[in-house]
Amino acid sequence: MDSATFLQLANLGEQLEQTRKRKEMTALLAEFLQDLEPQEIPAAVRLTIGQIFPEWDGRALNISWKTMMAVVDNLTDARADVRAQASAEAVDGGQFVYMLLEQARRQPPTSPLMIMDVFHTFEEIAGATGRGSRVRKESLLRELLERATPVEAKYLAKIIYGEMRHGVSEGLMLDAIAIAAGIKSHWVRRANQLWGDLGEVAWAALTKGDAGLRSATVRLFRPLKPMLAQTANDLPEAFERFGGRLALEYKLDGARVQLHGRDEEVRIYSRNLTDVTDSLPDVADHIRKLQVATEFIVEGEAIAVDPRGRPLPFQHLMRRFRRKHAIATMAEEIPVDLHLFDLLYLNGESLVDVPYQERWSVLNSMVGSVNLIRRIVPETLEEGKEFAESARRDGHEGLMAKDLTSAYTPGVRGRSWLKVKHVMSLDLVIAAADWGYGRRHGWLSNYHLAVFDEETREFLVVGKTFKGLSDAEFQAMTERLLVLELGRQRSTVFVQPRIVVEVLFNEIQQSGQYRSGMALRFARISRIREDKNVAQADTLQTLRALYEKQFEYKGRP
Ligand code: ATP
Repeated sequence: MDSATFLQLANLGEQLEQTRKRKEMTALLAEFLQDLEPQEIPAAVRLTIGQIFPEWDGRALNISWKTMMAVVDNLTDARADVRAQASAEAVDGGQFVYMLLEQARRQPPTSPLMIMDVFHTFEEIAGATGRGSRVRKESLLRELLERATPVEAKYLAKIIYGEMRHGVSEGLMLDAIAIAAGIKSHWVRRANQLWGDLGEVAWAALTKGDAGLRSATVRLFRPLKPMLAQTANDLPEAFERFGGRLALEYKLDGARVQLHGRDEEVRIYSRNLTDVTDSLPDVADHIRKLQVATEFIVEGEAIAVDPRGRPLPFQHLMRRFRRKHAIATMAEEIPVDLHLFDLLYLNGESLVDVPYQERWSVLNSMVGSVNLIRRIVPETLEEGKEFAESARRDGHEGLMAKDLTSAYTPGVRGRSWLKVKHVMSLDLVIAAADWGYGRRHGWLSNYHLAVFDEETREFLVVGKTFKGLSDAEFQAMTERLLVLELGRQRSTVFVQPRIVVEVLFNEIQQSGQYRSGMALRFARISRIREDKNVAQADTLQTLRALYEKQFEYKGRP
């Protein structure tokens, strides 16, 4: 028998919003978890953090705001002034719906809503596709809202639009699960890394205890969250971090793919765990060549290449990933190369806890004609530097430095992987700035960076950044820019081009977004060039020359 009402979940959300103290929050959550019936646990846990399905589950509700409003209008008769006030005061869609129902509902809610009713209805909504699906979604949503009190409606809307504001992160929920089940948080976190579903982790913890989580393992065709890297400023820093014992791999500027295979069946998952197999039939074919393995999970980077096999800028690859039709033509137009760098599972055995050096050796012994990423285990820093130079010459983004002894930790941006990217730098001029929001409220903090075009003799924007300055520098910069103000448009203040900043970036792209036709990728300010005046800053002509230079090594779009 289901016992948990959706009102309990909504009230929990309201209580959580009242505090920012971690201990109080985990205690509230743990108490809620302990009261759930086993079959309610997975859905209740996910809905509490505003997730309906696990990340790897491709389903989505796709309820437009228009549909929500149609349902709410049907249940209420709010006057225009009530609506206007609600719209002005509400901080999000959930609160807006709350206010309208609270003030102008026609009839009281019918029968109480259980958490499982909500979840099953969400499943039905996600399942409604094709012709007539909009009407079907609307009627299912109406059934829910007819039964919901205003505060429940608020949480339905928050969940549907992903606007939970009570500050319960995945990490906090994991701690609450550990407390509720009386299990060490290490095991809860590990199971979550392997399964990627807080709901199932909570269920196993609360119904099977410690043993249920310790036995957690990798599952084929269930994508793992990718292990992530921290940043090192340069190679010496990476060497120092790992005490000189490390592997260096090319860092290709492509897309991370995780490939799962059993016999002839292959599925490819993207960095955000979406199944992209249908967009990459050539990559799937390629990986079928891993014949020694009947079951495997490998990871690698997919990059777009030109006919000579040289890497193309990232934008081209994205066209492949987004493609839904005429895939074969696209695959010919933009061939994709796969370079493997890790092995997580082989013939029934999980390898995530095996040291990276061993995982690499096994991978190396089984790849056959499939490409491995270029890699060395350098003896000296000099050797590392030469390798970095060859990565640059081959048109790649930089290097990854990896701890030889490290386990594969899914979803964690830990210290075992470091990325060391090549950087370029230019001196640019601030031409405008946007008012910041959140923590940067009250400061001009997003800077429009410009170069001087020697032909037209005007300043043209090539990128924007809010990265690189300290709080004190933001404040001082705001004051300086306001003195230079030329005019305003919405949240942007245009200024006289006077201030020069040194900007680091990783790539120059062609762009339709700016009149300059160029855009910098990953721009951040490294310092304010008080010592330079505008005439000494870099020009559009310099930028164009740099852009061209990239193609000495890279494929041309
Ligand atoms: P970025 O945008 O800098 O790639 P990210 O947040 O996507 O950052 P990070 O963990 O910071 O991911 O950097 C690692 C990323 O680099 C991986 O997700 C992968 O796509 C890519 N990559 C390229 N070459 C390698 C490699 N040899 N080993 C691991 N990751 C690699």
